[in-house]
Amino acid sequence: MDEYRNLIGGRLVPAADGRTLDSVNPATGEVWARIPASGRADAEAAVAAARAAFPAWSGMPALGRAHFLRKVAEVFAGHAEELARIETTDNGRILRDTLKKDLPGMTHLWQIAAGQVLDAVKGETVILGPDSMGLTRREPYGVAVCIIPWNSPISTFSAKAAYALAAGNTVIVKPAEQACASVLRLGELLAEVLPPGVLNIVSGLGEDVGDPLVRHRGVNKVSLTGSTQTGQAITRASADALKPLTFELGGKSPNIVFSDADLDAAARGVTVDSVYTGNAGQVCVAGSRILVHRPVWDEMIERITAIASEIRLADPLDMTTTMGPIVSAGQYERVTSYLEIAGKEGAELVFGGATGAEVVPSMPGGYWVAPTLLTTTDNSLRVCQEEIFGPVAVAIPFDTDDEALAISNDSSYGLAAGLWTRDLGRAQRFLRDLQTGTVWVNTFRQMPPGLPFGGVKDSGYGHDAVLEYTREKAAIIKT
Ligand code: NAD
Repeated sequence: MDEYRNLIGGRLVPAADGRTLDSVNPATGEVWARIPASGRADAEAAVAAARAAFPAWSGMPALGRAHFLRKVAEVFAGHAEELARIETTDNGRILRDTLKKDLPGMTHLWQIAAGQVLDAVKGETVILGPDSMGLTRREPYGVAVCIIPWNSPISTFSAKAAYALAAGNTVIVKPAEQACASVLRLGELLAEVLPPGVLNIVSGLGEDVGDPLVRHRGVNKVSLTGSTQTGQAITRASADALKPLTFELGGKSPNIVFSDADLDAAARGVTVDSVYTGNAGQVCVAGSRILVHRPVWDEMIERITAIASEIRLADPLDMTTTMGPIVSAGQYERVTSYLEIAGKEGAELVFGGATGAEVVPSMPGGYWVAPTLLTTTDNSLRVCQEEIFGPVAVAIPFDTDDEALAISNDSSYGLAAGLWTRDLGRAQRFLRDLQTGTVWVNTFRQMPPGLPFGGVKDSGYGHDAVLEYTREKAAIIKT
């Protein structure tokens, strides 16, 4: 049994009261690790450590911070296989993705963050008159709390911590209780690299340790990737202290296929790495509503069915596996409950719907859900409006551009959308009128660093980037 500890003030420590939580391998249903069940005392200790480290870290020349961030990138590169295996064991995200995509991508991201340290200290000069000058200074907030979910812990950890540290903040990361072993292992490795207190990691339940962190007067900035409900809870909890917030929340993203599209590419784009494969649909930008132009409806349903039948669910540590399990018993209950809801609401099942051992008989304890496709003409169904966060897509036909836009925007969420068409005019119009933070045209789920990533409506606001972790101060100098 692997035992992990918190990182507080450069020391690896258990929760103050010694409590632990079990971490379950979702492919087997077995407990494989223990993590600290931290609480208020641990939150207090982490804030104290981060505050103590702030003057030296923020006072260091920016290029000094870049030097440390490049060393972090080296840790990612040097421990890629180990970290990828831990994450795959912990949350079921297939090794093909954690090892081949996430770890190289995050090594790159820490290098990019190191290259952006100067952006965080760049200001502007305004000549106000012959003897009067205005200027702006960018400053870090102070202590930044980064709260992350379980679906891609290494990636979400990096997207927040790298930029917050680059900007000169000290950081406390609160990973998700369902899967945080990879982040706690990173804590062990980074304790050797970063000055004490600059990065702190405390695991535990949201209400036990996340909430005291959010409320703490010594915390100056909060960034959450998680559910809309948690975003709302954090907004309420931080209201008295008026904390700046960044929220990357849920989605119910439409993936819209027009009859003039390259249908081969579109069929792949709406299935592989969209709502199936990769993370078994447990991605915020999952294209969980597939909108299909009626002239190509039958052909697209056939093509999607054929591609989905090739998806291989098996041990996520096997490099030939293309889709893994659902992360936890709780999430498995949630996804399977939507299969029942779909039946009651009258959505039609095209394929899938199988769960548990009937999907992967060799791993009967795993939380398996087969790729599933439903169809309906009614976008108001719960399966069209609520985030299922599993490999369950709903296909909806449409006749006109106006109708496709109306269905797409008829959602409380606004994270992302995909568009498959060869018509540039149509693409321009949808780029303008879709109410989402990202629009992909003839591609899906590409999130290159350098472009903002975030949502609108219930999908949140702001995005993780270096300037998001700074505030501006104005100065006027008269001589
Ligand atoms: P969640 O909101 O339940 O948990 C996310 C994190 O918040 C966890 O670390 C949890 O412990 C913490 N938390 C919960 N309650 C808290 C509280 N009151 N105070 C402080 N912290 C608290 O979300 P989840 O179910 O773990 O993750 C799935 C959700 O995350 C989905 O809605 C998904 O769409 C979203 N997500 C969004 C993105 C994005 O970038 N937009 C990426 C991945 C996941």
